[in-house]
Amino acid sequence: MTTADRLAARAAELDSSAPLAGAPELFSVPEGLVYLDGNSLGPLPVCVPAAVADVVERQWGRDLIASWNSADWWGAPRRVGDRIARLLGADPGQVLVGDSTSVQLYSCYVNGLRLRPGRQVVVTDPDSFPTDLYVLDSVAELLDAEVVLASPPEVPELLSRRGDEVALVALSHVDYRTGELWDLPRLTARAHEAGALTLWDLCHSAGALPAGLDDAEVDMAVGCGYKYLNGGPGAPAWVYVAERHHPVFVSAVAGWNGHARPFAMSGTYEPADGIERARNGTPPMLSLLSLESALSVFDGIEVDDVRARSLSLTGFFLECVNVLVPEVKVATPRDPARRGSQVSLRHPDAYAVVQALAAHGVVGDYREPDIARFGFSPLTLTHAQVLEAVRQLHLVLARREHTDPRYARRLAVT
Ligand SMILES: *Cc1c(COP(=O)(O)O)cnc(C)c1O
Repeated sequence: MTTADRLAARAAELDSSAPLAGAPELFSVPEGLVYLDGNSLGPLPVCVPAAVADVVERQWGRDLIASWNSADWWGAPRRVGDRIARLLGADPGQVLVGDSTSVQLYSCYVNGLRLRPGRQVVVTDPDSFPTDLYVLDSVAELLDAEVVLASPPEVPELLSRRGDEVALVALSHVDYRTGELWDLPRLTARAHEAGALTLWDLCHSAGALPAGLDDAEVDMAVGCGYKYLNGGPGAPAWVYVAERHHPVFVSAVAGWNGHARPFAMSGTYEPADGIERARNGTPPMLSLLSLESALSVFDGIEVDDVRARSLSLTGFFLECVNVLVPEVKVATPRDPARRGSQVSLRHPDAYAVVQALAAHGVVGDYREPDIARFGFSPLTLTHAQVLEAVRQLHLVLARREHTDPRYARRLAVT
């Protein structure tokens, strides 16, 4: 048996034995395309077009303003939040959908500082996604707080030294660049021992792996709706606030949608009870309801099975890389316990490699400075597609297509 035959047989065996084998049929991906960018924009679930058409034509077009009640548009931020809560290991009533991750982060940073008066330090990872750092810097400047940078492995030591100054530890569950998965329960417990609150960014976890937010007693968490949750471009984000903080959490944006009696049109703000107080302005209803429909792909599916499928796909990808392109450096931990749902490869011409692969129907993405990133939306992919992706990578490198000027970096005009 040739190496290629052996890998093809292994892909077939995994496709017949991995959990959730029938799930790729739930998505509409162009024939022949291997889409490994579901962690940037999740693919289209087949149920979404009809659901969105109904929202536009019937709910908006025919029923107009009545739909706020008859279609329960008003209840959608919490209703959709409850569907996401299950995927995060959270009891209902703690997750609210609306606004972008950046806006939700803003509100959570402000709350972290407000709820720990006398403590002015926020600890975060210097390798966080840029928006997390930018928004935190703007909050720190407004509230005269200090941002202290520490990678997750450095956080415990920092807390032993300066723990009594720390209001909030704000980290990403999965490093967006390398795909490394951090120990959320342990870091949360460590922050609590120091008297600090925790904020976890789950943009690269929600819909791909369990987070166990309630069990770990996380305080606040945020995440995107358009990545592994497949809500569509610009779908609103979600925020989790643990129930024990509801009496004291107040949205930093505090718009009228989060008022205890929004239609009293009172001149003074009084937050609603429960997670409703995390609402701000009127939500983007078309996107929110697109996300609601997309979430139905998870109906009847356990997150642990999603995780098992994800690890099977990423594990097989690493196996194929080992065999077909052993010279390529892997940036993602090989230990499954430390791996999110992506595999990142390092290559000096990573940008051109990603472009050349796309020309061959394998879509990944590039991240500065040398990362070719492949995200595995667990329900949407097969092991046969994983093998095809690495086979194409092998061909691109063997033919040196990445040196072709067609795929070279186009620098932005400044
Ligand atoms: C994708 C992503 C974001 C995006 O934030 P938006 O406000 O939705 O643009 C933020 N944080 C992380 C970690 C991300 O991966």
